[in-house]
Formats: sequence, C-alpha cells, structure tokens
Amino acid sequence: MMTLREDAQSLHSDLVELRRALHREPEIGTDLPLTQAKVLSALADLPLEITTGIALSSVTAVLRGGRPGPAVLLRSDMDALPVRELTGEPFASQIDGAMHACGHDLHMAILVGAARLLAARRDELPGSVVFMFQPAEEGPGGAEPMIREGVLDAAGTRAVAAYGLHVVSAKAPYGVFCGRRGALMSAADQVRVTVRGRGGHGSQPHRAKDPIPAACEMVTALSTHVTRAHDIFDPVVVTVGSFHAGTAENIIPADAHFEATVRSFSPEAREKARDGITTVLTGIATAHGLEVDIDYHRGYPVTVNDETEADFVADTIRDLYGADRFVWMPNPEPGSEDFSYVLAEVPGAFVFLGACPPDSDPETAAPNHAPQARFDDGVLADGAQLLAELALRRLARG
Ligand SMILES: [Zn+2]
Ligand SMILES: [Zn+2]
Repeated sequence: MMTLREDAQSLHSDLVELRRALHREPEIGTDLPLTQAKVLSALADLPLEITTGIALSSVTAVLRGGRPGPAVLLRSDMDALPVRELTGEPFASQIDGAMHACGHDLHMAILVGAARLLAARRDELPGSVVFMFQPAEEGPGGAEPMIREGVLDAAGTRAVAAYGLHVVSAKAPYGVFCGRRGALMSAADQVRVTVRGRGGHGSQPHRAKDPIPAACEMVTALSTHVTRAHDIFDPVVVTVGSFHAGTAENIIPADAHFEATVRSFSPEAREKARDGITTVLTGIATAHGLEVDIDYHRGYPVTVNDETEADFVADTIRDLYGADRFVWMPNPEPGSEDFSYVLAEVPGAFVFLGACPPDSDPETAAPNHAPQARFDDGVLADGAQLLAELALRRLARG
C-alpha cells in the first residue's frame, strides 16, 4: 500500500482540477447549488453517509471506520465573496461580481482529498470522521445553522475533536503553516446606536434636546472607556466607522446615529466590553436627558484553539513536513471566523496555510479578499494529507 503522502501526491492533479472548477463558478452566501453539486459529485464514489442541509446548501459526510472508536470532525467552508476578480488566472471566475477571493475553493478540494485518503484506509480507521462542508462563512454564517442541524453529532456520537485550515494569499510564505494556542482570531461584534432628542432651531438649543453633542461625547467616551476598563494584554478595539446626524447648520435634528465595530480576543473581554459599552452609552444619554437605542449585534465569537490540540497540530505538521514548515503566531489575527462556533463546542484547532504563489513576495502579495488575491494550487496535496493525518492520529489516541 502507498503511504499517505504518496497517496496524497497521486491525488494532486484531481484536486487541482476540482479547485479550478469550483473557482470558475463561485457562489456567495447560504445557497450554493453549483458548489454543493460539485462537492457531492467529487464524493459520490466514496463509502460515505451523506446528508445535505435544510436551511443551507451544506454537505455533511460521515466515514465509518472498520474499527470502533470516537468521531473526529474536519471542516471546510464553501462560499465566495462579492468581488470582481482581477487575477488574470486562466481559471478565473466566470461569474461577474463573485470570486473565491478567500481561498474557500482550496479548502473544499483539500477536504475532498482528505475524504479520499481516509476512505482508502477505512478498514484500519478506529472510529468515524465527519466531513463538514459549510456555506456562508463570509456571512451571514453557516457553522451555527449546521450545528443546529446536528453536524457535531452526525456520526451518532459527539465529535471529540475538530480541525480546519485556512489558506492565506499573503503574509505567510508558501507552504508554511501558522498556528496559535488559545485565541487565534477575534470576535467581531457590531453596535448600532441611535441617540434620540428633540429637534429645534439652531439659535435656541435650550428649547430643543440636541442629540449631536451627546453622540460626539459617546464616541470619545467609548475610546477612553476601553483603555481604562480592559487589560492591555487582553485588548478590545472599538472603532466608530459611521456617524450621521442632521441636515443643515441651523437645525437641531431629532436624532443622531453611529455604528461601531468591537473586536475582542477572549470570551471574557467580549462580555465585559458589551456590558461596559452599554453602561457608558446609557449613562451619557441619561446625563443629557436624552434617550438612546443600542442595537448590540453579536458577530462571530473568538476563535479559540484548544492548547493540547494546537500542540498536536503543530507536532503533526513538523513531523510530516519538517520544523521549518510550522510557525507559532505571536498574536491573534484581528479578523473573525465562524469555525469559532464549532471550537466553542468541541476542542480542536484551526491553522493557517501560506498559499502565496512562490513567485510573489508574501509581504507585498495581495491579501485574502482582494480582487488580485492569488492562491497556489501546489498546497492542496499537503493540506489534504494534513487533515487526514490529524483525523487518523486523533482517532488512534481514542
Ligand atoms: Zn474571508
Ligand atoms: Zn475565509
């Protein structure tokens, strides 16, 4: 029998073909019929129990090993972005205004590869593997609905571990994996604020209730508040990116609106920020005799890697590819990711993989989400081998 590595290399051209077919026809959001059909057809000849989503076009595939044991979950996202592609690649998007600019096409090919590798070793597999193909990572979120539809228990028992990876078109060198123990990516919440006063003439503010000075005070108070209330080593970032009020210089408007993004790196800081921000906004409104509506929208939570599982992933990568292929990240990424919902339920780890084309400089290459972002196919076999190895080794641990 071929080794897993030889087997992965032999799949390479098929995975490239699948990735490029997915790349040509990107779909956005929750409903991805063309993408789902390609994933289903790529899995069709394998001994998998397949179910598709109800609320979204997800694919859940279960491989039952020949020996008893626990279940491990491997995840890929499936969706593209509303970006007009400018890479000039021969397999560039044929759908105007949509592009796989975050590399989720590579993730799907990698997870299909892992399914093929593990299916070929089914008899020796001590347990089950759940393959989670998830839409809507870029919004409105697909992991949470898949959890509601039972993906974590798809094998008939709760998964004991979950793993996923994300390719990056910049920053990390080609083929280098980057990981972290604990917080890997931030939570991203959104606050929409409406300060309600009473309109009037600009010459006689005492006859009105002016919402603008109070809203301005809120914006500066929020920045001050986070620096006073939060540990600088467990930071919170608040940015007001939108502020609107009024129509003309001599009219006091009835209300003022602003919106802020709130980024945090631990569940504790996230809760504390929500409470603190609400208290500050309400207090300032009350002090000025105004009312305030606070719409605190929870986005994706902090992506937290289990320490043992993060070490296990790092050890596996170094064992398979050598010590120079893995780097510990000094800081979390300020982006967010909805695999965080899975990692909140099941211990596991998420890892980045540099897929910047070897002919470009990772420091200056176009980043994920840019219309020029290029991801090199050459990483597919290694990605598939890694996910398969993680499942095999984790199941062997029991
Ligand atoms: Zn993205
Ligand atoms: Zn992404």
